[in-house]
Amino acid sequence: MSDYTIRELMRPNIASLVPYSSARNEFTGVANVFLDANENWRDYAGGRGLNRYPDPQHRALKKKITEVMGLPEGKVVIGNGSDEMIDVLIRIFCCPRKDKILLMSPTYGAYEVFANINDVGVSHCQLRDDFSFDVPRMETICHLVNNGAPATGMHKMLFICSPNNPSGNSFPLEQIAMVANRFKGITVVDEAYIEFSEHPSAVSLLEEIPRLVILRTLSKSWALANVRVGIAIANHEIIDTMHKVKYPYNLSGVAQELAIEVLDHADEVKRQVVEIRQERNRVAQRLQAISYVEQVFPSDANFLLVRVTEPDLLCERLRLQGIIIRNRSTVRGCLGCVRITIGSRTENDTLLDAMARMEW
Ligand code: PMP
Repeated sequence: MSDYTIRELMRPNIASLVPYSSARNEFTGVANVFLDANENWRDYAGGRGLNRYPDPQHRALKKKITEVMGLPEGKVVIGNGSDEMIDVLIRIFCCPRKDKILLMSPTYGAYEVFANINDVGVSHCQLRDDFSFDVPRMETICHLVNNGAPATGMHKMLFICSPNNPSGNSFPLEQIAMVANRFKGITVVDEAYIEFSEHPSAVSLLEEIPRLVILRTLSKSWALANVRVGIAIANHEIIDTMHKVKYPYNLSGVAQELAIEVLDHADEVKRQVVEIRQERNRVAQRLQAISYVEQVFPSDANFLLVRVTEPDLLCERLRLQGIIIRNRSTVRGCLGCVRITIGSRTENDTLLDAMARMEW
């Protein structure tokens, strides 16, 4: 079984793609008359430059992100949420109706949806009942899925979400490294919730494993879900190709500026992450005292997966009181489970009081 290069793993049309390029991208030097992009010269927003296209390379935001998050410069691409990065990666590597992706299930539902949109098949390697990696099963599955080849179709990508949504647990770095080393395709480690976890990031594995992509987002601990900023970190070849495939202006200038502003408040964000973790423990304890709560799974994220006797009834009764939680009870491996986000203390108490008042 041979090791494929990153280029060999790409869709052939993407490996040879000539990307869209604008005149403003191409020119060097100084200019103050811009008649190259068919924009309107008039700026109705009073000098904020909303009439001009934004920087397609997000240079200022990228610089800020790499500084604040301690990420390797030149190995970062920014997306319209990490959801865009997931879609772009599938479009780069997976040929429709030929290749497949492999998921460690249960996990974040969007991987499967983006695969479906791209007409790419999905295989599942089920996590154990406690949502930990079933290492022997993964070794066997990696062995099996590595049997394909780019020409005939193969499992091109493996998605590992750590901390995992919806279960909340992280996977040990050694296990992630072991699987990523064995898997012949591209391993994506989605670290959307990493700031809430004590586990180290998989970014340290990038040097050792070139077929690795790490995803981050500003939607969770950075409190910018509305602004849509996702981050992919990988080696130059993957990053350069992601830049070619993403929409040229995938992130508005307004979003880029807002994100830079919020990234200046890293200390405040870190303090609030500590508060959310404490609140998570308090909510978990109070939930455990409720009679119909069967299990509160340990969480490394800003949510809790909770097994209850009547999940549908619970969600419906809470909804009638204006409280929305996520019913995950039909997801394989999550029988009877609901997912509860840790909100403000007041919001959490509203939920806990409503739950404590309920009798079946
Ligand atoms: N990955 C995971 C694991 C998520 O839970 C989410 C959002 N729920 C995303 C990615 C997408 O985040 P974004 O807002 O950056 O698109």
